[in-house]
Amino acid sequence: MVMVERVEAIYQDVVKRNPGEVEFHQAVKEVLDCLGPVLVKYPDFTEAKIIERICEPERQTIFRVPWQDDRGQVQINRGFRVQFNSALGPYKGGLRFHPSVYLGIIKFLGFEQIFKNSLTGLPIGGAKGGSDFDPKGKSDNEVMRFCQSFMTELWRIIGEHTDIPAGDIGVGGREIGYLFGQYKRLTNKFEAGVLTGKGLVYGGSQVRTEATGYGCTYFVEEMLKGKKNGFKGKKVVVSGSGNVAIYTLEKVHQLGGKVIAMSDSNGVIVDEKGCNIETIRQLKEVERRRIKDYCDYHRHAKFIHGGNIWDVPCDVAMPSATQNEITGKDAKKLVKNGCIAVGEGANMPTTPDGVQVFLSGGVLFGPGKAANAGGVATSALEMQQNAGREAWGFEETDAKLHQIMRNVYQLCSEAADEFGSPGNFVVGANIAGFIKVARAMSAHGLV
Ligand code: GLU
Repeated sequence: MVMVERVEAIYQDVVKRNPGEVEFHQAVKEVLDCLGPVLVKYPDFTEAKIIERICEPERQTIFRVPWQDDRGQVQINRGFRVQFNSALGPYKGGLRFHPSVYLGIIKFLGFEQIFKNSLTGLPIGGAKGGSDFDPKGKSDNEVMRFCQSFMTELWRIIGEHTDIPAGDIGVGGREIGYLFGQYKRLTNKFEAGVLTGKGLVYGGSQVRTEATGYGCTYFVEEMLKGKKNGFKGKKVVVSGSGNVAIYTLEKVHQLGGKVIAMSDSNGVIVDEKGCNIETIRQLKEVERRRIKDYCDYHRHAKFIHGGNIWDVPCDVAMPSATQNEITGKDAKKLVKNGCIAVGEGANMPTTPDGVQVFLSGGVLFGPGKAANAGGVATSALEMQQNAGREAWGFEETDAKLHQIMRNVYQLCSEAADEFGSPGNFVVGANIAGFIKVARAMSAHGLV
């Protein structure tokens, strides 16, 4: 009880010191709420103020990003890189380009990344960055000029042994290419390991594009297996239609499930025959169009303008769009409609009351920091290949990803058992992720 009060006091202090950063507060609260029993077992973590230190980023950089649009107008955006924790390895985490980005979003993502990266078992610290730049509706040339300007600031603080950015919402292969080109030009170095998510022709890894979606599906498969169940014949709803959603769709179909609904910010498509991956890829990855156009190619499918995807009854829900997309009300609806498992492909897509509804409703719940760790894990595999000047094949890399996701599941499951919450992978992920970072921080002394 005393421990719980101590953790609560730390949380209140975080809220006070980081006013208005509600997503960051939410991410911190979820982790801290799980740590009471850990402090009882490891009193030295309390003594060394590990939790207080972990909640304070090691370094935060905010910078101006000026660029010129196609009409010759000057535009100004804000750039961020929060280097949160380097106890386990160089800072590692993606860049998000989206108009909603502000410091609180980057800090929530950077904080999550510490524990997620720890769970992968690979030597990577936690970071996140990005900008309030909106790539939607911009030409390739505008995106290029923005990326070049962004890197003209960022290059000073990154490096293959220091900080390795990658993609997130709004940052994919195209953006990473422009960022890499500018970094190479500024440093006069072909330092492949400075960015991950690169194209295959210049040092990228097989499976990196697919990794988050595949990994999340592997994680859900492990949860289902634990209940002597599997994807075969399951109806699955996958929100979003970006990189994570598309490759979740592919892997679910390979494992015998059927994805019957997907979405974008305009609405939801429902295809009871199973969403067609080629159409979605062509529309979203190649032509950057809206998902409603799916119905032009598949007449039986329906588009619900402004619809709520969680109204579609399913066995498995895989939120793969953005934070807080499943509310408590949505979670109740999903449980009522018979949903038995949730795998978070996005970062923190379920609100805290939504998580409670799933846990108390007996739904298998894979929290993002475990279930979506496959993306960053494969980034670390890309770094390994770059360091060894190697290029592994697709099957080999996918097998490594699969094994990593089995390990992540195992870690979460064992920690949940050990700390008295069997089957609660939120508790398991937070505790297992935390203990490893805390041990490394203790070993490094007061830094
Ligand atoms: N943005 C992804 C994540 O949330 C990947 C980060 C990376 O590959 O570094 O984990």
